[in-house]
Formats: sequence, structure tokens, C-alpha cells
Amino acid sequence: MREKGGRSSRGNTPEALRGMHTEAPEAGVPHVRNDMRDADLRLVLMDIYHRMYARFGDRHWWPAKTAEEVVIGAILVQSVAWSNVVKAIGQLRERGLLSLPAIHAASAETIEACVVPTRYYRVKAKKLKAFAAHVCERYGGDLERMFDQDAASLRSELLSIYGIGPETADDIVLYAAGKPSFVIDAYTKRIFARLGLVDEHVGYEPLRQWFMRHLPEDVALYNNYHALIDAIGHHYCAARRPQCRVCPLAPVCRHAATMPDESGAEETPPAPHRFHQ
Ligand code: SF4
Repeated sequence: MREKGGRSSRGNTPEALRGMHTEAPEAGVPHVRNDMRDADLRLVLMDIYHRMYARFGDRHWWPAKTAEEVVIGAILVQSVAWSNVVKAIGQLRERGLLSLPAIHAASAETIEACVVPTRYYRVKAKKLKAFAAHVCERYGGDLERMFDQDAASLRSELLSIYGIGPETADDIVLYAAGKPSFVIDAYTKRIFARLGLVDEHVGYEPLRQWFMRHLPEDVALYNNYHALIDAIGHHYCAARRPQCRVCPLAPVCRHAATMPDESGAEETPPAPHRFHQ
């Protein structure tokens, strides 16, 4: 038997995680693990961070010069590759439209023409103009005035604006305002489900709260943690045919332990895990 929040009889090391499935969720309720002590989960999450960091280091996110550029990029990157966003931002910059007051003053057609590379360009232009209108009409176009509130209030306000969903709101809170809110994306769910730490159907908000409950509240850590997850997802953890043999998380990954070796047999379990100091 395992009590909620108590220790597993198999211990709390990532080796134990590899062989354990997350507990069966209540009917219809995707979940995160709750069978480890908070302190142990913090060690596991920090160990994962250090393994990613050892491979990729500081990712220096967000790739933008100003907070306005972060906001514009966060809205444009929805459902599209970053390379497309770079083209659209380049066109906005060329036409002197890389600011919220300029976007507010420009016609919808002008903004649409600039953001064509980001697909769904009419909707994206509408979202940009809605955000710009909000900041201009309520804060005189000054993002810093908008950001002068705590993270939870800011996030709530952002979610009230047309076109701003949870991931975009958290991108803005963390990368534009520099306040603590952990960003969840499809890579986060896939990787942490494969690691054996969360249910693959876990919802955005439960997963965000889980990270924030178990990680130190540290903006720089949240910043680079999400950026490193993105790097793992981009380089190794594809939806199909993940590159587990070269992934730095393989020694602590339940999915990697189930991958057949070249002879078709299951791989030998990895050497005992050692937490990074
Ligand atoms: S070891 Fe494989 S499944 Fe696990 S995170 Fe890395 S690429 Fe994804």
C-alpha cells in the first residue's frame, strides 16, 4: 500500500519511476503523480533539469529584443514554427509596426499582410490588434504599466483578452514580464508522460501547478527549464520514433527502458541513478 504523499516501497529514485506506472486516475480525471513526497519530486525534477542543462546549457530565451516583441512573437507562434514567426516579425519591423501602439494604429489589412507567413494570418492579425487595443486603451500603450501587478493577476487579465490562451499567457508572464509562471506545451506533456511522471492526458492547469508546486519559485529556472524541454522535444522526443539512444534523459526515462535493442530484446536496465549535485 502507498499512502498519498508517502514513499513508495520501491524508493523514489528515477530507477523506481522507470518501472512504475502512474496510479490509475479517477474516472475521467487526468492526473499527475501524487505518490512521492514533494521533496523527492523536487529532486527528480531538478535532476531532469541538470541532465538537460548538461546537454544544452542556457538557452537564452525568449529570442527577442523587447517585451513587446516577446508578446507579438508569443501570439504569432501559435500553431506554427518559429521560423515563420521570424519572417513575420521581420516584415512588421521593416514597416515600423513592431510595437503595440503602431499595431493599434494600423489597419487590419496592413497587419494581415505582414503576418501572412504565420498561417491563419487573419486570425493572428485580429489577435494582435485585440492585444494592442487592450494595452493602448487601458495602459496608454505602456506594457510596463500592465506588468505592474502580481503574476496571478496579470495572468488572469491576459486570459481575458481575445486570442490569449493559457500557453500564450504564460509565455507573456514569464518571458515578457519576468514573473513566475511555468509554461506548458505539447512537448512538456509528451516528455513527462514518457518519463513516467504524468498521465499523457493531463490537463494544462494541473500540470502547470504540479511543476510550480515542486520547483523552487525562480523565474530564471522556469525560463530555462521550459526552453530546455523545447530543445529535448525538438531534437529527440518526436511524437514518432523518439531518439532515445542519444537523449540525455534516457537514463531516467520509462519509455526509453521499454525500447527494444538491436537484437529485439529489451534493453538492460541502466546503471544505478545518481542525482546531480
Ligand atoms: S529518452 Fe526517449 S522517450 Fe524519453 S524523453 Fe528522451 S527521447 Fe523522449
